[in-house]
Amino acid sequence: MTDLTKLTLKGALDGLKAKQISSTELTEAFIGAIETANPALNAYVLTTFDKARGMAAESDKRIASGDARALEGAPLGIKDLFCTKDVRTTACSGILDNFIPPYESTVTQNLWDDGAVMLGKLNMDEFAMGSSNETSHWGPVTNPWKSNASNAALTPGGSSGGSASAVAADLCLAATASDTGGSIRQPAAFTGTVGIKPTYGRASRFGMVAFASSLDQAGPITKTVEDAAIMLQSMCSYDTKDSTSLKVDLPDFSSFVGKSVKGLRIGIPDEYRLDGIPAEIDALWEQGIAWLKDAGAEIVRISLPNTKYALPCYYIVAPAEASSNLARYDGMRFGHRTEAATGLTDTYELSRSEGFGKEVKRRIMIGTYVLSAGFYDAYYVKALKVRRRIAEDFTNAFNSCDVILTPATPSSAFELGDTAKAADPVAMYLNDVFTVTTNLAGLPGLSVPAGLDSKGLPLGLQVIGKALDEGTTLAIASVLEKAAGFTHKPSKWW
Ligand code: GLN
Repeated sequence: MTDLTKLTLKGALDGLKAKQISSTELTEAFIGAIETANPALNAYVLTTFDKARGMAAESDKRIASGDARALEGAPLGIKDLFCTKDVRTTACSGILDNFIPPYESTVTQNLWDDGAVMLGKLNMDEFAMGSSNETSHWGPVTNPWKSNASNAALTPGGSSGGSASAVAADLCLAATASDTGGSIRQPAAFTGTVGIKPTYGRASRFGMVAFASSLDQAGPITKTVEDAAIMLQSMCSYDTKDSTSLKVDLPDFSSFVGKSVKGLRIGIPDEYRLDGIPAEIDALWEQGIAWLKDAGAEIVRISLPNTKYALPCYYIVAPAEASSNLARYDGMRFGHRTEAATGLTDTYELSRSEGFGKEVKRRIMIGTYVLSAGFYDAYYVKALKVRRRIAEDFTNAFNSCDVILTPATPSSAFELGDTAKAADPVAMYLNDVFTVTTNLAGLPGLSVPAGLDSKGLPLGLQVIGKALDEGTTLAIASVLEKAAGFTHKPSKWW
């Protein structure tokens, strides 16, 4: 085996189980790759190599004694949004730049309990607010992909830009990520990787730094659909420490990978045919439809009439919840504090104004405004009603189809600095046009790489499933993955 970092998670687990490779070898290969690539990509904000070596040695012992667990010896990257006991967790915010959690998030605990190895913490937009990973306190992440037309540095998308970049550049076997409005699926689409956000409540939010609690959901970014199924299996669990966690059985997600989709009805929503969408994205969507037809699925036209209200609705609900969640960062109990000589109120003010970045402050202000007594009914309550309508659209659509197919993003990866130049925060928000609806409705959504655009950059298709039907979502995605035969990798320039 020449380059162990190129293995898929499934390939590595098989190799480990068969004792063809050791976790220590595999871990050392990733450590070497990270040391080479990270100065250029900035995907990891913290590496935990000593810990990784210890965990790998432990895994090798278990494998030798025949006690291997589901993810035994697999080196993973963890989005810096998941609290990791005794390992700095910042959500890439200045206000948490010295926070060492005294506890472990349930999702990461599940991974360690299954034998995974932690390589380090991955970069992200501050508090997961953004679509380009440029709001991070630790600086932007660079996409390993480059356009064939220019040498400019591209965004890996956001907020899980570090996770996507690390998986695409083979700096871990797979990564954890989180999705409030598209933060798993958009970066996956921008980097030629697979990302799935499960049904709201499938994965515990305990120990995940909160952005918008009714929308946040953990999920993996991986190299293949099969790997996504494996990661999901370990990440998800019922958890009494999260009151919104669902007490439901976990199906065997891997059993859906490669399953026939014959006779399944695929909904194609009229309202996702947006004006101004690049022709290449439309063409890819048509191609996806053709692939599924060839696999024996039936194509149905559906309507999701309230789609046009999804972005405005999301950008009221998400900041409202964020403004409330972020009130806890007062510089008193944890996080950054700047003492003011003039009293407590000024200490709060100074700590928060120094600790938070610009986009986070914008969201806190919008959120506080829409929740204020004078505007609560006009904005927040109205947005909740619209959210209900959006969810009902899906319920109605799922009477005539089993899954929905849409593009994942309205463009391929754009240049770092591009949207900032436009000086219009709404330009960035438009990235989420195809993804926010599933968060508002709590449904599973997956992005699978389906082709390259004329610039040689990856494009993704999105599969949206019924609540708790990640299985069919994975089955459809694996058909698309196979038909697309997407084996492209970014050429190594770092
Ligand atoms: N880009 C969206 C936002 O900025 C979604 C982020 C996310 O899913 N965490 O809010």
